[in-house]
Amino acid sequence: MTELIIFGPPGSGKGTYSKELERLIGIKRISTGDIFRKEIEKNTKLGQAIKKYVESGALVPDDIVIKVVEKELKRIRKKNFILDGFPRTIEQAKALDKIVKIKGIILLRMDERILIKKLAGRRVCINCGKPYNVVSIDEVVGKVHYVLPAIKPKKRGICDVCGSKLIQRKDDKPSVIKKRLEVYKKQSRPVLRYYRKKGVTFINVTVNRDIETVTKRILSLLKRRMKIKV
Ligand SMILES: [Zn+2]
Repeated sequence: MTELIIFGPPGSGKGTYSKELERLIGIKRISTGDIFRKEIEKNTKLGQAIKKYVESGALVPDDIVIKVVEKELKRIRKKNFILDGFPRTIEQAKALDKIVKIKGIILLRMDERILIKKLAGRRVCINCGKPYNVVSIDEVVGKVHYVLPAIKPKKRGICDVCGSKLIQRKDDKPSVIKKRLEVYKKQSRPVLRYYRKKGVTFINVTVNRDIETVTKRILSLLKRRMKIKV
């Protein structure tokens, strides 16, 4: 059994890397953000309740999030999974503990200034959700050299996969980004401390290269530190 959480500030690539792990080693990705967006699109009761939080950059209340995750874990029968976007608060972490034991945390790290730049360049397909990035970064911060190439579509503003329009998510606008980073910093510290105390294995990865390189690093660490077959 592989019970993982992927953790990191908004824009560090939690979605990207958890999808890569799902594709390469077959662990089920559970993204609360994706579940929320689907509910909002379908305009369900849950979606309506969530919408106002998501669009302002605030966190969705614990009781709603916990219910959503519990339902999803039941649906996949608690098989190998990676949680993306959950738990974000200590209350959520404690509630999760009652459902399932977490074995490892992949902690993505990225300098804040780089994050803001990268998030501002993010675009997603309005139809299939495929992410792109129109900003290219080549910068040294502290001792870390960030080389993050842009991921542009072949035709400007159009998705390569399905031909639909690319948009900037409302929560990727600069004013909302700042708020999301603040919320992350405040909320993440106690959650990480909680898991450290519990002796959960931490896989720390600095996201300073392209997706393929960083994915390889994560896989080799999972293999070495957690004996996960990759
Ligand atoms: Zn598309």
